[in-house]
Amino acid sequence: MNPMNDQPRIHLGSLLRGSDDAHVSGELDHLDYHQGDEAHTLRFAKPAQYSADVNSLGGDDMYLQGSFVPTLIMECARCLRDVEVPLKVQLGTLMRYDPSVDQPYLDEAESGEEVLMFGEPDLDLSGYLAETTLLSAPLSVLHTPECKGLCQVCGHDLNEGPCEHMAQVPVEEIDDELGIPAGKAHAKQNPFTALKDLDLPEG
Ligand SMILES: [Zn+2]
Ligand SMILES: [Zn+2]
Repeated sequence: MNPMNDQPRIHLGSLLRGSDDAHVSGELDHLDYHQGDEAHTLRFAKPAQYSADVNSLGGDDMYLQGSFVPTLIMECARCLRDVEVPLKVQLGTLMRYDPSVDQPYLDEAESGEEVLMFGEPDLDLSGYLAETTLLSAPLSVLHTPECKGLCQVCGHDLNEGPCEHMAQVPVEEIDDELGIPAGKAHAKQNPFTALKDLDLPEG
């Protein structure tokens, strides 16, 4: 019933004509979106289900709510291997139809709430889903807390064993103590010490 879509599109034509509320659901195996002029792709470990309802708030304003359940594939921050990050994303946003809008974007409404601006009744939700997903995702992940990362010199994955560079450069030497010889530091002269020796006139 829910064909695998390349793009999560919701058709809002009849809602804009003042009749039915709109519903869309489906599955995505990835999500293409744009950030400025750059094309990006969110990768999912398995088909990610989305579902959204859009209700009219009168005029060109409407409200979208729904859910998106992707298992996002991120890269381990140290060794770059794939890490699966299961997410449950709640969708909820004001929407406003403005025919002059070229690409859908999130703006701030007069109320301070975010509002999804769009100009095409056949709305592509890719950008909104991607942005909401990224806001729900951790900034970085490790494939395991003990991940040893990659060798800075040759890029070898140190989780698979040491490379020659690790043997050559002991960790203690890399982590140098800024080269300050011990015992050089001395207590600062207290400028108020001299006051103690001040001869006060005898009264
Ligand atoms: Zn790792
Ligand atoms: Zn190496």
